[in-house]
Amino acid sequence: MKDLEKTFDLLIIGGGIVGAGIAWDASLRGLSCALVEAGDFAGGTSSKTTKLIHGGIRYLEQLDFRLVRESLRERSILLNIAPQFIKPLPFLIPVRGGRPRPWPLVCFGVFLYDWFAGSRRIGRARFLGEKALRQEEPRLVENGYRRAALYYDAQMDDAALVMGVLQAAKRAGAVLRDHTRVTGLLQENNRIAGVKTQNGEVIQARRIINAAGPWVDQLRRLANPSAKPLVRMSKGIHLVYPNLGLKHAILVSSERDGRIFFLIPWKGNTLIGTTDTDYSGDPGLAQAEPADVEYLLEEANRALPGFGIRKEKILATFAGVRPLVAQETKDPWAVSRSHRIYEEGGLLTVVGGKFTTFRKIAEDVVDRLAGSFPDRKLVPCRTAQEKLEEAKSTLPIDNSGEHQP
Ligand SMILES: Cc1cc2nc3c(=O)[nH]c(=O)nc-3n(C[C@H](O)[C@H](O)[C@H](O)COP(=O)(O)OP(=O)(O)OC[C@H]3O[C@@H](n4cnc5c(N)ncnc54)[C@H](O)[C@@H]3O)c2cc1C
Repeated sequence: MKDLEKTFDLLIIGGGIVGAGIAWDASLRGLSCALVEAGDFAGGTSSKTTKLIHGGIRYLEQLDFRLVRESLRERSILLNIAPQFIKPLPFLIPVRGGRPRPWPLVCFGVFLYDWFAGSRRIGRARFLGEKALRQEEPRLVENGYRRAALYYDAQMDDAALVMGVLQAAKRAGAVLRDHTRVTGLLQENNRIAGVKTQNGEVIQARRIINAAGPWVDQLRRLANPSAKPLVRMSKGIHLVYPNLGLKHAILVSSERDGRIFFLIPWKGNTLIGTTDTDYSGDPGLAQAEPADVEYLLEEANRALPGFGIRKEKILATFAGVRPLVAQETKDPWAVSRSHRIYEEGGLLTVVGGKFTTFRKIAEDVVDRLAGSFPDRKLVPCRTAQEKLEEAKSTLPIDNSGEHQP
């Protein structure tokens, strides 16, 4: 294809939210960018999420205040620039018998979350007694809950948002190609200066970015087969269940391991999830295994017995793999969701982060690269102000290798 024959400033490998964000930011700043995606755009982890643009109330327990602050800031920016993909959603944390946490701790956590959001808060948090809870969500009272904390976060259409960002990148000049797998990294003067694709094409660029999510280590090993892993993969599954009639997203916790998970109104159904378990297979083959489904069913029924959630009624399941920063922490759900940027032989690899923080991750990556282009006058990052347009298509379904969003 002619459009990939020149030498680009940047070549981005991976068409998930992180790759899309980098292509958008870099193109707006004046760099020529190409992005290649092995499968469908957004076909990896970025379409398998819990669909939340959130500060992450649970990270308060891990004392990761920096991540909560950063995520709340990004939530506010994204609600402003992409309201067609993101909407505010009220959450309830109903408390019964000290679960998901003792009531004073829940109140303190929600108060702190609200306080961190400050002027960026979506709506004021409230603490509900039985009467108010009955008004907000009567079935929770029927399930034995007498009080709940109410706070606000936001819900997104993840795949559509990736497409919206890709289209913005394209408008800013990026060349995008799906169904184009990178199969080789090409070295020049001991630096990676190009890639080979499965079709035998060579694409050259001054800098190459590895934004392949849970596949980043596979990519790095094309250049160095003994490269130590930078990613700890963690699988998360969701159940799509017929509408449970909830007006709020409900945060509950598992009795088995104390992890929190959600029941969320989602496109006329209820989304139940997620799990967080170590994974070592091919990220593209991750599935909801029977044990994962049992875990969510059992714990959802323990938290909300009156809803009679049954396996036979599950409409669908989906599974995704988180590309977490490799850390020795015991449980994958305790691993920080912060991002890191690594540089090896000219290849820049992005690891970790959250969907919510994709814009900031992209800004950090492009800031870091700016020094590689002393001959270029780059404008400052503009993605916090540029509004996204409505995405014009959903995931491409044809695989002729000629798609562009
Ligand atoms: C179950 C679950 C729930 C989550 N929920 C939330 C949430 O509610 N809110 C939130 O903020 N975050 C959430 N996250 C985290 C978030 O989804 C991820 O951090 C984010 O989607 C990662 O995006 P990415 O672009 O790095 O990876 P991906 O979306 O996986 O993109 C990487 C892309 O690289 C491509 N690729 C791989 N190899 C090659 C190659 N050789 N050549 C070309 N392309 C290649 C892949 O096909 C893939 O499309 C969740 C994650 C999981 C797993």
